[in-house]
Amino acid sequence: MIIKYTNFSNGVHEFRLTEPVKKLGLVEMFFGNVDLDVKMDKSSHQIVLDCDLCVNYKFNCDRCNSDTTRELKNHFQISYMFSKEKTDSEDYNFKILSPEQDKINLTEDVFEYVNLAIPLKKLCNDECKGLCPRCGKDLNIETCNCEIKPNNDIWAPLQKLKENFNN
Ligand SMILES: [Zn+2]
Ligand SMILES: [Zn+2]
Repeated sequence: MIIKYTNFSNGVHEFRLTEPVKKLGLVEMFFGNVDLDVKMDKSSHQIVLDCDLCVNYKFNCDRCNSDTTRELKNHFQISYMFSKEKTDSEDYNFKILSPEQDKINLTEDVFEYVNLAIPLKKLCNDECKGLCPRCGKDLNIETCNCEIKPNNDIWAPLQKLKENFNN
């Protein structure tokens, strides 16, 4: 994903970049294109990019195991300073552009921000009811008559103690 910023005048520009996930090195669960909505604020000494990314990914829900497709979104900002000095910035969101450059390559940044957006718990739906731990029925589709006592585990050690005592 490349922005040839020398093609833009100073001022604010809004545009969308689209690139296939494979070209960005995103594989496995990702498919289709990554869309990046960019708001670029360019002046004679710096460029500030405000980006919203969106990509589709597929996975099995962590609760009900169903095949799921969802959109993954993330937002990030990167500032670029025009400078002749080659200082390697540690800051992820602050970079230096040398006068010989005419392009910004966002490929690595987009890759990072997509990966940062992957949730720890991947759900088909934030309200997913999951599978019944007893009979395995998908509780999003049907109900079952299993008796689930969620607090059971709290008393289990005590129950065991009592059993041991009685023996
Ligand atoms: Zn689910
Ligand atoms: Zn059940």
